[in-house]
Amino acid sequence: MLELIAIAFIIFLVLYIQQVVQQKYTDFVNQNSIALKKLLEINQRYVFYPYIDLNQTHTYDNEKFYDNISCSDYLIYQLQYLSPKVFDQVKKVDSNKQKYQNYLCEVETIQFGQFQCPIGKLKLDKLLNIEKNIVNKTVQTPVTQFNITVTLYCSKINGRIYDSKMQNFCVEEIFSFINRLKNKSGTFYNDRDIWNSLCRVERGKVSNKMRFSIYERDGYRCRRCGVSERYATLEIDHIIPISKGGKSTYENLQTLCRKCNYEKGNKRYY
Ligand SMILES: [Zn+2]
Repeated sequence: MLELIAIAFIIFLVLYIQQVVQQKYTDFVNQNSIALKKLLEINQRYVFYPYIDLNQTHTYDNEKFYDNISCSDYLIYQLQYLSPKVFDQVKKVDSNKQKYQNYLCEVETIQFGQFQCPIGKLKLDKLLNIEKNIVNKTVQTPVTQFNITVTLYCSKINGRIYDSKMQNFCVEEIFSFINRLKNKSGTFYNDRDIWNSLCRVERGKVSNKMRFSIYERDGYRCRRCGVSERYATLEIDHIIPISKGGKSTYENLQTLCRKCNYEKGNKRYY
């Protein structure tokens, strides 16, 4: 037992001494490294734009919508509102990229192993290693590439997530979506695929949670014929259909029985 305690003590002592020595070297580098001083001076002259996260996430509590809506669909929908931010961020990232090249050229000229005072009993190779480590950690790594990651989750109505999908989009893909979104007549989009993506996402905005609160608001009755849920299947209807630019908002949603919804649907086409 005593032997074990002695061994533990020795291990502790060795680790402690190592730690003290390491700290001595680190302090020496921080105080005397000419490379580090030069790098800090370069860093002051290069101010990069910070990374702005435009990644998108959404949780669907309705499995049907989650299956139907792809990450591209979701991104296209969000780009209707996001594109000014995207352009701004792309410009900043490009500026970072140009500056970063010059920055790296300057950083490459840094010479290691020169110190403001004699190294005394310290070992040069150990100092060099520590100096390189500290310098590498101090080199700036600005964001020089723009992309957006879309993550969609599927949850139970109580919020418990049980599935997810993720896709990363590069700047070319994002710009292509933005250009296709520009092809517009009034409030309608001429690109069929873009329009379908937007409709799918708009439809998917009626979460189960929202659906139940609309039923509740409408007293669990059809807003056309007044039949109650006891005698008919109730559905959610977009008063102005999505295909005509209607949105999934509380004002544009109503409770209809399946029969009335079907009749309304038919009228739409004649
Ligand atoms: Zn009805």
